[in-house]
Amino acid sequence: MKTFNLNQLVRKNIQALKPYSSARSEFGGEASVFLDANENSMGSALQQPYNRYPDPQQKKLKKIISDIKNVPVDNIFLGNGSDEPIDLLIRATCTPGVDNILCFPPTYGMYDVSAGVNDVVIKTVLLTEDFQIDVDAALAAINAHTKLIFVCSPNNPTGNVINRKDIEILLNNFDGIVVVDEAYIDFATEPSWSQSLEVYPNLVVLQTFSKAWGLAGLRMGLAYASKEIIAVLNKIKAPYNISEATQELCIKALANGQWVEDSIKELLQQKQVLEESLQAFSFVQKIYPTDANFILVRVDDANGLYKCLLQKGIVVRNRSSMPLCENCIRITIGTAEENKTLLQALKEYK
Ligand SMILES: *Cc1c(COP(=O)(O)O)cnc(C)c1O
Repeated sequence: MKTFNLNQLVRKNIQALKPYSSARSEFGGEASVFLDANENSMGSALQQPYNRYPDPQQKKLKKIISDIKNVPVDNIFLGNGSDEPIDLLIRATCTPGVDNILCFPPTYGMYDVSAGVNDVVIKTVLLTEDFQIDVDAALAAINAHTKLIFVCSPNNPTGNVINRKDIEILLNNFDGIVVVDEAYIDFATEPSWSQSLEVYPNLVVLQTFSKAWGLAGLRMGLAYASKEIIAVLNKIKAPYNISEATQELCIKALANGQWVEDSIKELLQQKQVLEESLQAFSFVQKIYPTDANFILVRVDDANGLYKCLLQKGIVVRNRSSMPLCENCIRITIGTAEENKTLLQALKEYK
């Protein structure tokens, strides 16, 4: 197993930090009268008992996730979307104005934004022409102040899975943390990295309820990592970062795994229909194969197409300004109906 020194990575002030101790985390026993947290004893303005603070550790929800995802409870962190663990990882390890993170454009924009908010320099190494990591260039870009490497797989906006052996090389040769963002893993045939936590103490895997589970509105992101890394995230998170409503609704959703399976199947089928139909258009130059619920399409004039679709009330994502994505638009797979509407609009475009 790889040797890894988390203490060397976590900022001194975070190591010394005494976390906020909430009423509910200090009290763990059984009681019937709760006069400890200045909640409204009369109840709530809603029917449900939302007057009580939620479980800061989300134990019940984590137990269910643990069983479904085959990851021990102590290796799970739940956040307000994946954006929360992304931000917390940067804040835990990167001293503003001193440290840096590495990522591989074209990729998800939040790594950049979170780094920027925290005054952390973002180093970038472009993906190759086939949207894979140039591992030699990546290792060359790392310096003593590089704390995190963000790998998005399947990658957004290109949709492809990043080669396992390349991520392994990064894990084995980097003393910091490698974060693998698996927001779209449920649409891919590749296995999740969540089953490799014991092999790589410097691995963090991000997943989300926003995509395959269809719960973007609830804001629920997950991080899987070693107990030690999870403990650091727990130490610096807001005490009640997941609302009671979100915890309850996610528990309900987790009983509907079959719906998720079915919708994934349907979306992948719709993706195939869309891919095949798009090939007929002369202005479509290339359709990139994806392992996600979206496709990336290179067209003659992305800006023109984007505007034309917008005029018809159809919003796609214009990614032309991203490196390697010139004239590319990213299209989320819709329902059969929505995809038909899109195809009709494209017929009218040229
Ligand atoms: C959509 C997406 C997420 C999800 O973010 P949430 O904050 O959980 O909604 C994370 N990473 C990538 C690459 C995404 O595309």
